[in-house]
Amino acid sequence: MRQRSGIFRCFYCDQALSRAKKTHDHLQPKSRNGSNKPHNIVNACRQCNCLKGQLTLQEFRVVMAYRHGLVGEPEFKFPGEVRRQQNESR
Ligand SMILES: [Zn+2]
Repeated sequence: MRQRSGIFRCFYCDQALSRAKKTHDHLQPKSRNGSNKPHNIVNACRQCNCLKGQLTLQEFRVVMAYRHGLVGEPEFKFPGEVRRQQNESR
């Protein structure tokens, strides 16, 4: 994980991180039975760490794919959206 000259890279966006800037992120969130073992911990920039939050790697992959324009808008609608659309069409 360690790169030349003490520069680290964000696991998720590959941004170069100084020692001061890097944060540790759990691939499988601790709140969701993730372990504290080294294989579950990666270097991440603050932005990715914050964005990933309590998501699993699989869930975060969908978020990032969407942000990179690699996937279209999913069919799924939140219940509130469905209700709002029903109200508007009345
Ligand atoms: Zn990042």
